[in-house]
Parts: sequence; C-alpha cells; structure tokens
Amino acid sequence: MSTPAPQKFEFQAEIKQLLDIVIHSLYTEKEIFVRELVSNASDALEKLRHTQITEKDIFDDKAELAINVTTDDKAKTLTIEDFGIGMTRAELVENLGTIAHSGSKQFLKALGEGGAKNTNLIGQFGVGFYSAFMVAKSVKVYSHSWRAGEAGHVWSSDGSGSYEVEAADDLHRGCKIVIELKDDCGDYAQEWKIKEILERYSAFVSFPINLNGKRINTIQALWLRSKNEIKDEEYTEFYKFQSHAHDEPRLRLHFSADAPLAINALLFVPKDNSEKFGMSRLEASVSLYCRKVLIDAKPKDILPEWLRFMKGVIDSEDLPLNISRETMQDRSLIEKLNKVVTKRFLKFLADEAEARPDTYNEFYAEFGIFLKEGAAMDYTHKEQLTKLLRFESSLTDKGKTTSLTDYVGRMGADQKEIYYLVGPNRAALESGPYLEGFKARNLEVIFCYEAVDEYVMSSVREFEGKKLTAADHADVKLSDIPKPEGALSEDDTKKLTTWLKETLGARVEEVKASDRLVDSPALAVNADKFMSPQMRRMMKAMKKDGADEPVKVTLEINPRSVVMKRLFETHTTAPEKAKLVAEQILDNSLISAGLLEDATPMVARLYKLLESV
Ligand code: ADP
Repeated sequence: MSTPAPQKFEFQAEIKQLLDIVIHSLYTEKEIFVRELVSNASDALEKLRHTQITEKDIFDDKAELAINVTTDDKAKTLTIEDFGIGMTRAELVENLGTIAHSGSKQFLKALGEGGAKNTNLIGQFGVGFYSAFMVAKSVKVYSHSWRAGEAGHVWSSDGSGSYEVEAADDLHRGCKIVIELKDDCGDYAQEWKIKEILERYSAFVSFPINLNGKRINTIQALWLRSKNEIKDEEYTEFYKFQSHAHDEPRLRLHFSADAPLAINALLFVPKDNSEKFGMSRLEASVSLYCRKVLIDAKPKDILPEWLRFMKGVIDSEDLPLNISRETMQDRSLIEKLNKVVTKRFLKFLADEAEARPDTYNEFYAEFGIFLKEGAAMDYTHKEQLTKLLRFESSLTDKGKTTSLTDYVGRMGADQKEIYYLVGPNRAALESGPYLEGFKARNLEVIFCYEAVDEYVMSSVREFEGKKLTAADHADVKLSDIPKPEGALSEDDTKKLTTWLKETLGARVEEVKASDRLVDSPALAVNADKFMSPQMRRMMKAMKKDGADEPVKVTLEINPRSVVMKRLFETHTTAPEKAKLVAEQILDNSLISAGLLEDATPMVARLYKLLESV
C-alpha cells in the first residue's frame, strides 16, 4: 500500500488560544489530564457498545472493550489506548482541530469574561483532550474507526499552532494516545503515580482499565449495588465522576423498584443551583441506562422539566436495548419511567422535610424555585409539590418558614381562605397597611418575596379545598371587629368619602370606609381584577400593552385614624389645604401598594404643604 505524505494543518484560532493557555498555565493539578483522556476513552467505548447493537460490520470486532494504560519510565511516555469507536481521518481533523467541545468553549468564554488568566478554571471546565498538552512535549493519536472500510491514521502535534495527519498501518480499532512528557513532568511516566491518579478519578469507569497489564478498577455500576455496602465517599466520587461535578451532592436518593417497571436509580441534588447565578438554563442530565449500558446521557423526557437540576442515573431492565434518541418512540414506556421516578423523588423530599427539616430547608432555599415552577405548571404533581412549598408568614419568625399544611392546621373554624401578600421583603409587608386588618383578626398571612410567587399562587389557586387569596385584593372581606371609641360617625365618614371621591376625581375608582385598617389612615386596593400591582410592574418592564393605562384603585380610608378626623375638620374649614392632603394620602397609599409611577408631582405638593407648617 502506498502511504501518502503527512499533511499539515493549522489549528483553528480558538484552539490555538486554548493551547496557549493550557501550555503556559501554572495550573497545579495537571494530573486531571489523565481523567480527561480516560473519560474520552470510556465515551468512545460506550459509543462502540451502542454501535454494535445496530451495526454488523465492525472493524476489529474481537478487540476487548477495555482501556490499556502503559507507562514507560525510560522513554518518558504515557500511553492510553482504547478499543472504542475510533476516528476516521476526517473525524481526527474535525474533532481534534476545531472547537466542538462545549466545555472548552465555556472555558474560553469564562476566561474572556473574567479578564485575568485565571487558570484555576481549567479544573472547573475540563479542557478535554487538550489538557494533555499541560504535560506533553508531543502527542500522537493513532486511530482506526470502527468502520471497516476506513484506513488508520496518526494525528500528531507539539501543541504549537499546527498538527499533522498521516496514514498508519496495523492499527487496532479505537485510539491509542501516546504522550511524550515534558522534562519536568516525568512523574507521569511512573506506574505508582498513574495508579494513584486512576484510582482517584476513574474508579467508576464501567470498562476494565489495565495499567501495565494489571487490572486496576472494579467495574461495578454503583447504582446496581446494595445501598448498605456503599460508603458516602463512594457516592460522592461517583457523583463527581458521572456529573462532571466539582461540588459535593446536597441530597441523594438511591432506590430500586420492581413494579410497574424494574428500575434502579441513583439520583443527586447538587450543592448549588447554578441557574440562580444567572447562568444558562440547566439541561436535563440524568442518564438513562439499560442493564449498565448507556442509552442516552441526556434524555429529555425522563424527568419533568422542573427536575432539570437533578443528576445521576436511571437504569431500567425493561427498556429495549436499541432504544436511542432517535428511536425513543415508545413514549408510554418513558412516561411510565418518568412517573415512577418523579413520584418516588417527591416522596423522598416529603420524608426529608419531615425527618430533617433543617436539611430540607437548606435544600429549599437553593432549589425551591424549581418546586414552585412545578407546582404552577405540572398539573399531575401539583398537590405533592404544593405541600413541599415553604414560606415565611405573619406568624413565623423572620427567616423561619411554614408549609401550607401547617398554615391550614392553624386556621380558625371560620377562616375559609388562605391569605398571602407579595412584596419585596418582610419589613415592607409588615409596615405596609394591608396586614393590620388581618393581624387584628388573628388571621395568618403567607409572605411571598419572589417575583414568581404571585404567578405561582394564582396558578396553584387552592390548597386542600381552601382558596389562595391575595390579602391586598379588592374582594377580600373581613369579619367585623368592634370599632374603637372616637371614630368618625357613619354619617361623617360618608360625607368624607363623597368629598374625597369628588376631589380625587378620575384618580380613584371608588372611596370607601375600610374594615381592614387598624392604624394606617388609608390603603389603596387594586380595582383592576385582571392585573395585580406585581403583574403591572412586570408588564411595564416588558413594555407590554395595557401597562400604560392609568392605574385604577379603590381608596379605603380608616375612620378611626387621627389623620382622617383632622381631614374631616379641614375639608370644610380649609378646603385648599385639605385637597393637597387628600392627594398626598392617595399617593402614600399608592406607594405602599407599589403603584406610584411618577413621584415628581408629589414632591412639589409636599413642599406646598410644608409651606403651611
Ligand atoms: P469532549 O470529549 O468533551 O467532546 P475533547 O476535546 O476531549 O472534548 O474531544 C473532542 C472530540 O474528539 C470528542 O468529542 C470525540 O468525538 C473525539 N475523541 C476524543 N477522544 C477520543 C477517543 N479516545 N476515541 C474516539 N473519539 C475521541
């Protein structure tokens, strides 16, 4: 066979940049390159195993699905060989010459945004194959694709700008990566050193790894082992390996079920919710296996959308082996799987909340937003999810929360609804005028501080047969409580409300005496049934139609308040001044309701009032 001459290629610009950083970084944990290369080898074997199911004509079909690592202390080389799917010539150029790998892209992006060359990021993102250049003088990749009709090739580079590809004979299927180590990285040609690294990072690779001919990993799929044999550290290591994570898992659920499907699942909740930091939306990443064979690393529908923060594996013997992304047509099977696992996870959370409330609350503080999303959008699981929600309330201490179940347990016999208030924080809700009427009647009010809460509450609508009602809504009716002495008489109150309506004109829909005020002089309730103040603010932010129409409010006044009594006196004796006071009272109420849109006229008016002090 005539062998064509080696062909030289330039690396893509981004790869050059990446290599430059990798080679010149002083990153101290260089050893992660072993993990990266072994994990690529394991992926290639996994893909081969998959290909074998559908393809008959596989090159070098007898090659064992294993990873061989060899150290050569004399030559100062490290070789990592796998018998996976391998790469064709075109694939070598595409995969190892251009930036397909999303981890490397993110790494570059993070460096760009961070400004400084923060090389610690290498460990966080994993720069995949290119990490080899942290320790290598040169790297050679011998590869033969699983496709029998293709020839073998060797890709080689010293990491500076370009690489070469040439034909190579007598290759096994898969990839053999030979690393010629830099002079100060000779340790990686020592068997003890590599053994230690492999034991640390690659214990869960589900293919045999042999180091200099000796098998060093036990290929146990952790999720198929019995719970009481597994140590916490093993779980943690597995989580890190399987989810490419660097944190410790916050919660884990390991279970098996026989009916209606045979399932072994090992699920993790990560430590942090990365969406919280404005990072991109998480993608479903619980992997689907059938008898230890990976079917899909990121199946979309195996769990509901709101569980997209979960990590781990679900293994079901009942899946047909040839099920794949394209052929996952058996919807009913996937739906069944989804149902069983979700139900189990919800029960797990409910048990946690009961048995370890502190741990649960910490979880909730981080991931509660996903449960809210589920409660609002996932009708099937709404009830269990609503039970898992936690809120501060007018009866809890600051920072302590209650469940709706406990709220209902505290409700008096004649309380029919569950009340809630949405506002920026506890102090704002407690000092606003809406709460006092509820407090005076010993009615507990749930406090909601998150922007989504209003949407969640109105989507959930009711809990255990009790309606969820916004305490600042115009329709709220509260029972009578004895009126304290010295209030304006009903007659005078009537005169005052009529005068106020005339004076304030189109700015108010209605003015009436309030049954929910105790200390504050007045409050504004939204007369617009279809748009709450929070929604209005959101629509305004999004520049939606309808948000610019003037606010319509009902002004409720407190006939017991000194301010109202004084106003009643002045509205006949000093009508000009009384008018300013009336306008100011309305603006104050709008501020409390979060509805005042332009404070400028108010400032001018206040100065006018101050002149008469
Ligand atoms: P990643 O593995 O995260 O995609 P890498 O930069 O490590 O990123 O590798 C780039 C691509 O090269 C891989 O996606 C894969 O297609 C290919 N590749 C790397 N190592 C191997 C291997 N041992 N066998 C087959 N293909 C490989």
